[in-house]
Amino acid sequence: MGKIVGIDLGTTNSVVGVIEAGRPIIIANSEGTRTTPSIVGFTKNSEIVIGDQARRQLVLNPKNTFYNLKRFIGRDWDELDETSISVPYNVKSNDNGNVRILSPFTEREYAPEELVSSIIRKLINDAETYLGDSIDSAVITVPAYFNESQRQATKDSAVLAGIKVKRILNEPTAAALAYGFEKSSSNNVLVFDLGGGTFDVSLLRISNGVFDVKATCGDTQLGGNNFDSKIVDWLAEGFLEKHKIDLRRDRQALQRLTEAAEKAKCELSGLQKTKISLPFITTSDDGPLHIEEEFDRKLFESLSEDLLDRLLEPVQVALDDSGWEADEIDEVVLVGGSTRIPMVQQLVKTLVPNEPCQSVNPDEVVAIGAAIQSGIINGDLRDLLLNDVTPLSLGLETIGGLMKVLIPRNTPIPVRQSDVFSTSESNQSSVVVQVRQGERPLASENKSLGKFRLSGIPPAPRGIPQVQVAFDIDANGLLEVSATDRTTGRKQTVSISGGSNLNEQEINKMIAEAKSKAAEDRIKRSVIDRKNNALTLIAQAERRLRDASLEFGPYGAERQQRAVELAIQDVEEFIDDDDPQELEISVSSLQEALFGLNRRIAAEKKIDSNPLQSIKNTFGSLKDELFSDDYWEDDPWDNQINSNYRNSRYGNSRDDDPWDNDYFL
Ligand code: AMP
Repeated sequence: MGKIVGIDLGTTNSVVGVIEAGRPIIIANSEGTRTTPSIVGFTKNSEIVIGDQARRQLVLNPKNTFYNLKRFIGRDWDELDETSISVPYNVKSNDNGNVRILSPFTEREYAPEELVSSIIRKLINDAETYLGDSIDSAVITVPAYFNESQRQATKDSAVLAGIKVKRILNEPTAAALAYGFEKSSSNNVLVFDLGGGTFDVSLLRISNGVFDVKATCGDTQLGGNNFDSKIVDWLAEGFLEKHKIDLRRDRQALQRLTEAAEKAKCELSGLQKTKISLPFITTSDDGPLHIEEEFDRKLFESLSEDLLDRLLEPVQVALDDSGWEADEIDEVVLVGGSTRIPMVQQLVKTLVPNEPCQSVNPDEVVAIGAAIQSGIINGDLRDLLLNDVTPLSLGLETIGGLMKVLIPRNTPIPVRQSDVFSTSESNQSSVVVQVRQGERPLASENKSLGKFRLSGIPPAPRGIPQVQVAFDIDANGLLEVSATDRTTGRKQTVSISGGSNLNEQEINKMIAEAKSKAAEDRIKRSVIDRKNNALTLIAQAERRLRDASLEFGPYGAERQQRAVELAIQDVEEFIDDDDPQELEISVSSLQEALFGLNRRIAAEKKIDSNPLQSIKNTFGSLKDELFSDDYWEDDPWDNQINSNYRNSRYGNSRDDDPWDNDYFL
């Protein structure tokens, strides 16, 4: 069985954790960093790039580089707010109202789930390389306030990446797991989680390894990006006023503005003021135009007032739902990069006066918690129990368009709840169960999770048939709904997936495509790897050649130097060839030639103190002139010198020196 890892799939960055020797650790990616930007891009050759590589092409290739994808996952087009769709790439709605993202380079449109799946795949590939083991399943975290569709869509992304999801875990709960891991005291904890694109607040009681979530609330369209947008708008409005040019219409300029805004925002977490400098941001008839602005905390805070207000309400709702007063909170845990913003920290202090806990790294704490949960699932960690809640009320639409709640928000999960409904008209032969999630009394104002029809109800006056509707939420917060006609026993059950951006057929098609492409991708990757390795080897060989001639002159190790030069030429000849075998052979010849040169250099160094050496070096070249190339290839001397050097007796006894024996004595 493969391993299981914990994944924090963030709006801005993603992190992978695993349990090793009973403790959670973070796995560095193939670039050597512990966080991977949640960015996917396509190059001109339609090659996919993910993480740091994708981030590097953000400014130069904005139409084909996609970030903030988590804001789109599991959302309908008309649920998205202005900030979410103000991105330099093309986002649109398809005929079904689902979000689609366009890449001009690949000439394709993608569901957000599909792009997110490639991020998951990269995280898994890198973790497999680190662990030296295959990974077949994962615990994936989501904002606690993610609704059913967003959870389902996250699961779909993992399925597309070929990974089984063992648990969808709420991010603040994961953070609390990391915080409370190995703590024996009892505490009431408030987790305040403000990341790049989402905001969550959760209240938990942690006591001797039991984690009881009491209440959770949040906003899945509020995060650090909104603060960036405020700065972008301020810069763009100022520029518009001055030069009558709206930079937000120019994709490259918008991307540069966004990056500069984020940088200034982060700098203001440590400094009182900073400079925003964007030379050559655009050109006008008068020539190039630049941005050069002073930006300080006071201004930033005045621009962000409404965002601070939006942070307040969820905290208040969660406190009300938990029944706790603010002074009953023992500890505040800050999670997510945006909690580094001083005004956010101040706001938290005005809500709960305690100093926030500093013992957890806000960037890694969620992945650590996910790793702990994976450890609980596979039995590596014992004596920990997690009781989570459902974030939003679940119910169905009744006649008149009202919402009938079956499971209120903040109900501990897993849970099963049922109620009996009847027909609204006489002789009605079927009923439609329209499942909704949300807090509004009018059903149409809540998120529709899908609907199904239970038919075959025997004719009867209105109000007589009894249809029992049951909602089942599993530990992942995923819902199954069933409706049973009590007279006939006829039953209809559905797993809710209606809100995801992909239907089942599309998912299956993409999985098949991914599988067939996996072999192709592997081949492509191995061709690139082979070529890169060959280039690295050439660079190494050239360096060694330079070192050798600098240290020993052109004839110090001339035969070996020449062998390396010839081998380099061979590798260069085959490097762009389609035939991998020729390249492999030439690479191993170059490795052998380098090996010979290295040994020769080592030997030269040992006898460097010998005054005869320089004479040898000079005369050594004569040998090359005396023998033909053919002779060289089968030169038994060469083999002998290598084997003798391997025995390393050269420095100790001149009699054993094969070079000396053959050519000088
Ligand atoms: P996360 O989703 O937790 O990785 O958080 C990412 C968000 O945190 C992004 O919007 C970043 O711009 C923001 N962020 C990271 N570091 C800082 C900082 N020092 N000050 C303000 N915001 C930050």
